[in-house]
Amino acid sequence: MEKKLGSSIIKLVKGDITKEETDVIVNAANPSLRGGGGVDGAIHHAGGQQILKECIAKYPSGCNPGEARITSGGLLKAKWVIHTPGPIWKGGNRGESTILRNSYKNSLLLAEEYSVSSIAFPSISTGIYGYPIEYAAEVAIKTVLEVLSQTNIKRIHFVLFSDSDYYIYKQKLESIINEFEK
Ligand code: ADP
Repeated sequence: MEKKLGSSIIKLVKGDITKEETDVIVNAANPSLRGGGGVDGAIHHAGGQQILKECIAKYPSGCNPGEARITSGGLLKAKWVIHTPGPIWKGGNRGESTILRNSYKNSLLLAEEYSVSSIAFPSISTGIYGYPIEYAAEVAIKTVLEVLSQTNIKRIHFVLFSDSDYYIYKQKLESIINEFEK
């Protein structure tokens, strides 16, 4: 599913983010930036040793939740990987939505510094970190729609790993875009 917004396109993709051919793929990292499970493990596995080597060399103290760091894409088709640790869900009153918003926003602004035209996001924090996907999808989509106009990025993909995640994003994207365009 695709939606056009101004001169940009927002696309929902069901599948594996490591196969994306966007200029950047975003990694739902953990703060150590030393790899982990879930999408983080898949990206390091597919991208090879180069990504971990760069993380260690360039970012010895890791990355705080909500911030973003960049490495090359190693063996991936994407030229760059942006690593952002999302929040761990603790019930919703511990600033989780602000941190999640910052992850999307800071990833987009960092991508813009590298003059990229396309970027793919996974559903940050909704796996091991436990953020309920209905809430996370809303933060993800709203933040991207708001920040997009501050960039020259033309194509944004949300890559969802399961049919049910894809369906939730589809519902949210349709309703948020309708509101946004009013
Ligand atoms: P977090 O620790 O931020 O919750 P996870 O990797 O555990 O990160 O999960 C984030 C989301 O990424 C989950 O919805 C999970 O199903 C999904 N995911 C896992 N592997 C992949 C992959 N290869 N491509 C895209 N999404 C993936």
